[in-house]
Amino acid sequence: MSKHPREELTFLMIKPDGVRRGLTGEIVRRLEQVGLKIVALEMQRPSRKQVDEHYPKSKAWIERLGEKTLATYAKYGYDAKAELGTAQPAKLGTMVRGWLMNFMTSAPVVIMAIKGVHAVSMVRKLAGNTMPADAPLGTIRGDFSVDSAAVANREKRAVYNLVHASETEGEARHEIKHWFGKSVIHDYGRTDDEVFR
Ligand code: ADP
Repeated sequence: MSKHPREELTFLMIKPDGVRRGLTGEIVRRLEQVGLKIVALEMQRPSRKQVDEHYPKSKAWIERLGEKTLATYAKYGYDAKAELGTAQPAKLGTMVRGWLMNFMTSAPVVIMAIKGVHAVSMVRKLAGNTMPADAPLGTIRGDFSVDSAAVANREKRAVYNLVHASETEGEARHEIKHWFGKSVIHDYGRTDDEVFR
């Protein structure tokens, strides 16, 4: 039999902007409030190597970053070539990845392993859209930020969107191992789970 849906694990990181704005407690509260279980939690100051190994290097992923700039620029009527010197997704994506490295190493981050029913999609739902300006109110990004690629790229930086959350269970396994290494992932029963048993 496949594993119980309650056993799904995901990874969430409070990025430097979330830590520096004092939003750690609020973000933890939101995760716990929906019934997700935090099974590991730690503050770390990431090295460039750790961040470089965290974000994919594939052409497809880098182009996707560039596409996010192009989509935002198109939405607000900005010209990527005029502002950033290129409108090629791969080149834009490479620029963005560089800014992301600077941002993610600029202050400590808080990392968490989270367990619970549909943990991966629940945590992505709580986080909201990558671009905070497009994230619905009620989500972490939508409630506490108003950034977008249009502002960030003009200022030659990554979008400040408070959290990173794994997209798939495979990515979560990889990220938990990458960031926690040999640290223990704890487990315990949440009393509210017992209501459903
Ligand atoms: P998500 O974090 O929502 O999974 P991505 O994996 O696409 O989003 O991007 C990784 C991170 O890179 C984002 O969270 C954001 O901080 C930053 N980012 C993505 N696209 C852009 C962009 N076009 N300009 C600036 N920063 C970006």
